[in-house]
Amino acid sequence: MAEQNDAASVKKGRILVFSGPSGVGKGTLLKRLFDETDFPLTMSVSATTRAPRPGEINGVHYWFMTREEFVAKRERGEFLESFEVFAGGAMYGTLRKTVEDARDRGEWATLEIDVKGAKRVVEQIPDATTFFIAPPSLDALRERLLKRGTESQEDINKRLAQAEIEIAQSDFYQYCVVNDDLDVALRELVDILKRSA
Ligand code: 5GP
Repeated sequence: MAEQNDAASVKKGRILVFSGPSGVGKGTLLKRLFDETDFPLTMSVSATTRAPRPGEINGVHYWFMTREEFVAKRERGEFLESFEVFAGGAMYGTLRKTVEDARDRGEWATLEIDVKGAKRVVEQIPDATTFFIAPPSLDALRERLLKRGTESQEDINKRLAQAEIEIAQSDFYQYCVVNDDLDVALRELVDILKRSA
C-alpha cells in the first residue's frame, strides 16, 4: 500500500511551554535543545511591542510591532494569549496560527512565555507540557542580568521583582529545572522530554 503522507495522517505535534525569570538562561538552554537533539521542535515566534535588542531579527526572535498593530491583532483574536509582561512595559503575545500550523505539521510548538501566558495556554490546551526554568538563587539571577548588560538598572529591578513573583508560582508547572550547570539542566530536560513523549 502507498505510504500516506497527507496532512490527515500526520500525528499532531506537542506543545511545550517554558517559563522562567528573565536572565535565567532559558534562551541558551533552548538553543542547545534545538541544536543538539533531534526532537521535532519549532520555536513559536511571539509578537512584542518592545524594541529589538542589538542583533535581534524581526521574524526570528520576535515579530516586532507597534502597540497599535498589536492591539489590532488582539482584537481580531489572533493571539492564543497576550499580556503586558512587566508592569507598565511592553506587550507580548503568542500567535495562535503559528502554534496551530506547527502542530498540524507534527512539530512540537515550543513557547517561551511568562507565567500568566503559560496559565492561559494551559486553560485552552490542557495537554501542554510545562517547564519552569529556575535560577539557583535570586542573587545569581541579579549577577547574570548585570553581566548581560542589555537592560537599564530600572529594567533590571523590574525583572528581579517579576522574577520573585514568577518563582513563587513555579508549582503550577509540571516540571521545574534548575539552571545552575547548563549541561546538567539540558540532560534533565532531554530525559523529561523522552519520558513524557
Ligand atoms: P524578553 O523581553 O527578555 O525577550 O522577554 C521578557 C519576558 O517575556 C520573558 O519572561 C518571556 O518569557 C516573556 N515572553 C516572551 N514572549 C511572550 C509571549 O508571547 N507571551 C507571554 N505571555 N510572554 C512572553
